[in-house]
Parts: sequence; structure tokens; C-alpha cells
Amino acid sequence: MLVPAIKVLKPARERHYAVPALNINNLEALKAVIQAATKMRSPIIVQTSEGAIEYAGMDYLIAMVKVAAKAPIPVVLHLDHGKDLKIIKQAIQNGYTSVMFDGSALPYKENLAKTKQVVAWARAKKVSVEAEIGAIAGIEDFVSVADKDAHLTNPEQAAKFAKETKCDSLAVAIGTAHGAYKFKGETHLDIERLKKIAKLVKNPIVLHGASGVMEDVVKLAEYHGAKLGKARGVLDEDIKQAIKFGVSKINIDTDLRLAFTAGVREAMDQMVTVIDPRKLLEPAIVLMREVAMKKMILFKSEGKG
Ligand SMILES: [Zn+2]
Repeated sequence: MLVPAIKVLKPARERHYAVPALNINNLEALKAVIQAATKMRSPIIVQTSEGAIEYAGMDYLIAMVKVAAKAPIPVVLHLDHGKDLKIIKQAIQNGYTSVMFDGSALPYKENLAKTKQVVAWARAKKVSVEAEIGAIAGIEDFVSVADKDAHLTNPEQAAKFAKETKCDSLAVAIGTAHGAYKFKGETHLDIERLKKIAKLVKNPIVLHGASGVMEDVVKLAEYHGAKLGKARGVLDEDIKQAIKFGVSKINIDTDLRLAFTAGVREAMDQMVTVIDPRKLLEPAIVLMREVAMKKMILFKSEGKG
């Protein structure tokens, strides 16, 4: 069933688990994550970036997810990192049940005003809104967020922002980054900062850039020729701590990409005489589904759908 994000995030915050928010671009990826959620009886947030919309078309994505949401679990269709107000408005009007307005790169006042505007549009359609305060370093689709160590979220400012905008959930910056290269040395999230934020912000808290760059998937990808070098992700232990202290939505894209492309590479290697794209894409679906299921166990969302 297609539901607004707040319907799955509120119980997650109350009961200390996190709903996986998994990025998809195409039918194969959507099948993988929905099969995983159905098998695990986990609620799921299927999210598409503006880049995914550019790639597949918003109407295609909405139509596919509407069909996928016939699965016997709560499904949210979420716009990830909405920056273009026109696209956000379209998403709200056409069937997304949740949108993110990412004004984290804007001056505070502008972020505040635009988030309020998005909340007003969304309320009319019972669509949930995720807002963001404090930039998360790394690559967000096309734009690089510069200045790696700056811009961690200020707890007091986060509380004020959530209260004034009346957003449903809030993405915070506590040390994660987008992409496969998150950390140079030791991997660490700023859990102390998260505790302070969670004390003041009662909304579900969102963690972006949370891929673990899972060792087995990296190995498989590298075995088949991907060159990932010293890619490093967030430790499972840090994820568990983050969930314990208020994080209720965790975004995963990189790990799914690694799994999917590992499957494609494996197929191209091993099925040299096969010309049926369905057969060549099957290992990608299987690997991506496995990674999604592992996340549901780690996030404790298993059995909550
Ligand atoms: Zn993100």
C-alpha cells in the first residue's frame, strides 16, 4: 500500500528502528527492493532523485511504484534531494507520497522560507516533507558539496528549524558523506551531536550517505573489474548507534549501485553467449535484493511492515 512517509517513520522513531530509503532508477532495481521488503515484511521508502527522474521520467517512475505498492507492505514513494521547486510541486501533484526539499546549501533564511512553502503545498495533498539542515559532504547527483569537514548540524538550530517549518522529518549532518569514498581514516559518526539533536528534535531524523560500502559486494565488484580502491563506508556499529539515538530513515544508494553493477559484471563475464537482457540483468536483481535485505536486518525494520 502506498502511504505517506510519516506513517512509517513515526512508529520507527518511537520503537527505535529505521526504515530503509532505497534509491531506484529502473524496473529491475524497483523489483529488487520491493521483493526484499516483501520477504522481510519491512516497510520501505522507494526514493528517486531528480537525476532518476531525468533518466526514467517522473510518470514512468510513479506508474511503476504504484504497481509495486500492491505488495502487502507499506510503501512510500519519496523524492530524494528535491532542489527544484517545480519538480517538487509536480511530484506532490502527481502521486509521490513524500518529498524532500533540500535547501541545505542555501542561506538559513532562504532554506526556512522555501521549506515552509513546500510544506504548505504538501499538506494539501497529505504528502510528507523531509527537510535538511547542514550540508552533507560528498556528491549529490550532479553537484559536489564542498568543504568536507564543515557544516555539521547545530542541534539548537535544527530544533528551531523543525518547529518553524513544521516539516515531518529532518535530515541532519553528523559526519556521513555521499558516494563510495566517505572517510579517509577512521570511520565515525558524531553520535554525541546526534544525541543532542534527538533530545531537541522529536521528528524522525534522517541519515543520508549511510552506505556501508559492504566488503563482500566491493570484493565481488572488484573481482569483475570495478576499480574501487580504498572505498570506505559507515560501520554497522555506527548505524546501530544512530538508530538507537533517533535516526528513523536511512538512505542507501551506493551499496545498491555496487550490488547491481557487480551483478551486471558477473553476468557479462559468465554468460558470454547470452543475448537475452532479462537473463543478463537477473544476477543484478538478486545481488541488489540481498543487500537490501541485509539493510533491513541491520535497521531492525524486519517484521515491522
Ligand atoms: Zn542524500
